[in-house]
Amino acid sequence: MLDEPIKEIQVVKNYIDGEWTASRGEILDVVNPANGRTIGKVPISTRAEIDAAIDAAKTAFPAWRATTPLARTRCLFRLKQLMEEHFEELSRVQTQEHGKTIDESRGETRRGIENVEVACGIPTLMQGYFSEDIASSIDEWVIRQPVGVFGIIGPFNFPFMIPLWSAPYAVATGNTVVIKPSSEVPISQMKIAELVEEAGFPPGVWNVVNGGRTVVNALLEHPGIAGITFVGSTPTAKEVIYKKCGETGKRVIAQGGAKNFMVIMPDCDVNRTIPALMTSFFGNAGQRCLAGANLVIVGEDNRAYAGFLEKVLAAASKIVVGYGLDESVQMGPVRDKDKKDRITGYIETGVKEGAKLLLDGRRVKILGDFPPTCFLGPAVFDNVTPDMRIAREEIFGPVMSVLRARNLDEAIAMCNDSPFGNGHAIFTSSGRSARDFQYNVTSGNVGVNIGIVAPVAFFPFSGMKDSFFGILHTQGQEAVRFFTESKVIIQRWF
Ligand code: NAD
Repeated sequence: MLDEPIKEIQVVKNYIDGEWTASRGEILDVVNPANGRTIGKVPISTRAEIDAAIDAAKTAFPAWRATTPLARTRCLFRLKQLMEEHFEELSRVQTQEHGKTIDESRGETRRGIENVEVACGIPTLMQGYFSEDIASSIDEWVIRQPVGVFGIIGPFNFPFMIPLWSAPYAVATGNTVVIKPSSEVPISQMKIAELVEEAGFPPGVWNVVNGGRTVVNALLEHPGIAGITFVGSTPTAKEVIYKKCGETGKRVIAQGGAKNFMVIMPDCDVNRTIPALMTSFFGNAGQRCLAGANLVIVGEDNRAYAGFLEKVLAAASKIVVGYGLDESVQMGPVRDKDKKDRITGYIETGVKEGAKLLLDGRRVKILGDFPPTCFLGPAVFDNVTPDMRIAREEIFGPVMSVLRARNLDEAIAMCNDSPFGNGHAIFTSSGRSARDFQYNVTSGNVGVNIGIVAPVAFFPFSGMKDSFFGILHTQGQEAVRFFTESKVIIQRWF
């Protein structure tokens, strides 16, 4: 038997003003995509409940803001400690509610905790700066002050980590938050809120309200919300979040979708590149905003091209698919049947567009006795051209489109022609090629011999073009700047 921490159905409550409250809204099921079991019930919260959370956050703000940064971070130190103590349970919950493998979940938990750790440096991170004598006997300085209440909206693919790209920095700088997890995977954020409570944050500082787009719209419209951080698909980021925040004058970080190119130079270290490509394209079942989607093999040598592709296929066809709590499994299911149908729809589109399906992920062998409802295997298309939909649109599943470029310039032009710019990478042993790539490619995160270009917590999580809307980014110093106003003081004493 696999050790599942969620044994009984978890009825997810809202965490408002330090209290756990049952919502009066519609209730949806949360289903484990690997075995089809219902593991939770999640509410679509009502307007009154959202308003109550924002009011609580607003009421808590003045006292929390006046709490010293050192005292605020003590709550975060305790939260970090509690997360470490519950590390394995938190990771297993992610696998149960999302489907990713247990190792991927452990990685997600670690990356989430790292943001709490970085935010513990707030006493120095939010310091201002000072100039004496900017004019005769006049001094000038900048202080960073918290802004108020922030809404934090998460996607389904990293249920634990992504709200932590924002929330620790928001509260460490003295703001209060209302978090809206994806209703598809709400249990991880409930678990975090339980630890927040145990860590001793004052009521109203950290609130969680569950639901879908109605909750998002309420946060966007509410005058009590000073700003929003959002991570999700491009249409929502661009047309809903960025637009509405512009209309209502809220500061905003809106991270969108992606279509990442992995560029393979003839001089790459093949034996190290292939495993990196496997985790990039097929890790998390392709449901990462930094997942490889298009593989561009550079060079005019047909034999080298065929040889590389053969190695890719051999590795991809060996990937073990099954329930992620089994340590031997390398790829779990996709999140739900609708997502699987969308991905298989793209596989059909690729075939119709004339690409050659070398490995058909629809024919998947599952390790163990699990319903096939949400499972797919790795899919590999050859003969893909940049104009095809499977090369341009975000599929968000384990599908590799292989394209060919004559030289690096052509490969970079392909990357730059994409509407997205999230995490392109080059694989090469040439410093010159690596520099040309990182200099010219329009991608917010760039990898050199790295397949998943995920910035660590003390670097900004960047993005360009349709992958990002805003100026400052989540994580690290940029998050500190986003969650604070710069106030300039100019002083003269007579
Ligand atoms: P999504 O846009 O469907 O949902 C994201 C959040 O917005 C959810 O909380 C959802 O409830 C809410 N939402 C959805 N539609 C809405 C609407 N019309 N109005 C208001 N709110 C709405 O995204 P998803 O499917 O949960 O996540 C996958 C997407 O997120 C992919 O496109 C992926 O590339 C992207 N993503 C981006 C990053 C990044 O850093 N750029 C990171 C992770 C995921």
